[in-house]
Amino acid sequence: MAFNIAIDGPAGAGKSTIAKRVAKELSYIYVDTGAMYRAMALYFLRAGIAAEDEAAITESCRQINVTLLNEGGEQQVFLNGENVNGFIRTEEVGKMTSAVSVYAPVREKLTQLQREMAQKADLIMDGRDIGTCVLPRAQVKIYLTASVETRAKRRFLELQEKGEGCSFEEICEDIKQRDYRDMNREISPLKQAGDAMLVDSSDMSIEEVVAKILEIVRNKKE
Ligand code: C5P
Repeated sequence: MAFNIAIDGPAGAGKSTIAKRVAKELSYIYVDTGAMYRAMALYFLRAGIAAEDEAAITESCRQINVTLLNEGGEQQVFLNGENVNGFIRTEEVGKMTSAVSVYAPVREKLTQLQREMAQKADLIMDGRDIGTCVLPRAQVKIYLTASVETRAKRRFLELQEKGEGCSFEEICEDIKQRDYRDMNREISPLKQAGDAMLVDSSDMSIEEVVAKILEIVRNKKE
C-alpha cells in the first residue's frame, strides 16, 4: 500500500515549500492540489465565465482536463494539454480559485484525480481538504498554519522579490478573506482533521518545520 502524507493549512503557511523539501528527502512525489484548482480557475477566467455563474461552471467542467507531470522534481500542470504553470500564480487567479473551488463539480473532478494518484504512489499532497476528505486514511496528516501577520509578511516579500508592488494591508485583507472563504464553504471546508498533527510555523524556520515533519513520518513508519 502506498504511503501518503497529507498537508493542509491556510494560504501562505508554507505548505508547498515544506512539502517539496519533505518529498525530496523521502524521494516521494509531491502533489500541489492548489495548482490543480488554479488551472481550473484559469480556464473559467479565460472563457469569461463569472465566479457566480454556477451553471456555466458546472457545464464547462466536462470540457476541462487537468493533468500533472513531474519534471526534475517540479510539478507541471497541464490544462487541456497546455502547460499552464506560468499563468496560475497571479493574484487574479488566486482569488478566482478560492471563489470557484466552492462548487461540487469542480471539487469532485479533482478529488477523484487526486485519489487515483495517491493509490498508485508514495506521495505528499498539500491542499485544504486532503486529510479531511481526499485521503482520510493517509498515514500522516499535518495541519500547517501560521499567524495572519506572518503569512502576509511572507507573501509581501515574495511579491516584492517578483517586482510586483502591493500594500501590506491589502495582502493581510486578502489572506483574511481567503481564509474565511476556505474555512466556511459548505463542501470540504479547510479544517484540521481530528487525527492531524498541528504545526504552527509562525516562529519556525523552513528547516525546523521540515525536520519536524520528517520526525513525525519516521515515528509513524517505525
Ligand atoms: O494552495 P493555493 O493557494 O494554491 O490554493 C488556491 C486555492 O485553491 C485555495 O485558496 C482554495 O480555495 C483552493 N483549494 C482547495 N482545495 C485544495 C487546494 C486548494 O479548495 N485541496
